[in-house]
Amino acid sequence: MAAKIRSGDRRALARAITLVESARDDHRTQALALIDALRVDAPQALRIGLSGTPGVGKSTFIEGFGLHLTAQGLRVAVLAVDPSSTRSGGSILGDKTRMDLLSRDPKAFIRPSPSQSHLGGVARRTREAVTLCEAAGFDVVLIETVGVGQSETMVAEMSDLFILLLAPAGGDELQGVKRGIMEIADLILVNKADGDLKPAATRTQADYAGALRLLRKRSQDPDGFPKARIVSALTGLGLDEAWQDMQALRDWRKEHGHWETRRKAQGVHWFEEAVKAGLLARISADREASADMQALATKVAEGTLSPDRAAAEMLASLS
Ligand code: GDP
Repeated sequence: MAAKIRSGDRRALARAITLVESARDDHRTQALALIDALRVDAPQALRIGLSGTPGVGKSTFIEGFGLHLTAQGLRVAVLAVDPSSTRSGGSILGDKTRMDLLSRDPKAFIRPSPSQSHLGGVARRTREAVTLCEAAGFDVVLIETVGVGQSETMVAEMSDLFILLLAPAGGDELQGVKRGIMEIADLILVNKADGDLKPAATRTQADYAGALRLLRKRSQDPDGFPKARIVSALTGLGLDEAWQDMQALRDWRKEHGHWETRRKAQGVHWFEEAVKAGLLARISADREASADMQALATKVAEGTLSPDRAAAEMLASLS
């Protein structure tokens, strides 16, 4: 399977992603072995996280942007993260007709979000899918998420660049975008800058550019970043400029060592997350330990034990 994935066999890639999505023990063993094999000398893709609320134009953007990249000979994989997805008709991207042209492009690979599961499971599955896509030789891996809960931070933690897609605001207010998201965004793209919406998009872009200038300058950024610009996923306006920005950031960060530093820190972060998740899973699989856990939780809820004292007792009982 590893050899097939490396040679660009899309069916093998799709099957491998199905394998990493499985929680079955024997599948986990196989998945880990596959990833071990593929990590050796794997090429690095540019991992781009993309977030935006439903309706902002993510699918349209990914289609337009993806086709822009494949037209230059680049291979593009699109993965989706939608932990909240219980919508009928499938998860985000489930409806491939929304990206009709891109999904038929032989240089593109689109994988819908698995419709299930808690954020932790989605995170692991997505990271492993990214690794598989890199091994398969994709130049760019786009990781799409709807802006809910912790999913944006999670996607940013597995991306080299993080892009926030916004719609033009009616007035001049910042659209309640959380400060934390502004801080992790490398590029803010105000979409729908066409027709009647163009003046509003331009005003919104100026507002965000102003807000970004007020943020502390980050060491991993060259001058002028993070940046806000207008785009139209529909007409293609600004897509090439956005791609130039992403390349400029990538090159600058690689040159100054920030790329490697960030990937290493991300690796350690996910290692720690996986250990935490594994410990909790081990506790819930063990009858005695999960009874201890519940009893301690009750005491915390009643106020007879502090959360930290209860945790100390739980950890002591484990060792
Ligand atoms: P998503 O929910 O974020 O994936 O958004 P979609 O890509 O499905 O787009 C939502 C709606 O906005 C659709 O009706 C699109 O046609 C429209 N839309 C997306 N991009 C643009 C754009 O650049 N300009 C205009 N005018 N409409 C757009």
